[in-house]
Amino acid sequence: MATRIYILRFPKETSSEPIIYQLVKQYDVEFTILKADILPQREGVMILELKGPQEKVKKGLEYLKSFGVKAERLAATIKRDDEKCFQCGACTGICPVGALYIKRPSMEVIFDPDKCTGCSLCVPICPVRAMEVSPVTAAIVEAEEEIVT
Ligand code: SF4
Ligand code: SF4
Repeated sequence: MATRIYILRFPKETSSEPIIYQLVKQYDVEFTILKADILPQREGVMILELKGPQEKVKKGLEYLKSFGVKAERLAATIKRDDEKCFQCGACTGICPVGALYIKRPSMEVIFDPDKCTGCSLCVPICPVRAMEVSPVTAAIVEAEEEIVT
């Protein structure tokens, strides 16, 4: 399951099309609109959080592209506050990419920022909120890059 945030830029010809409705209906992805600025006959911009199996999210992005919608992924920066973390391990089961794991035999909970995709799944799991999301300022990754990998 992937949770990712995208900036979608809609060409003005599509501003009155029910594209997002079809995206959810056809590809079974959950979405949250974080911000939208779409008016009839104008280019529109929407910041959308998509949640679903990675394959379905990718297919959904291909669907958007077929309408000329440009999608860029916003990768949030996740940090761990080591002062707060008390090494309970609760976050290690939720991380889909192994960026949080238990090192044996010391049983230390390791956070590897290089593996972290910024999905934020670990943030609500942590009982002391040691995993922190920076404002969405980090790398913008072309969605097409994701589709081909
Ligand atoms: S460390 Fe947290 S934000 Fe990073 S990939 Fe794992 S669950 Fe997602
Ligand atoms: S859930 Fe929070 S306190 Fe527990 S190991 Fe993970 S970051 Fe540390």
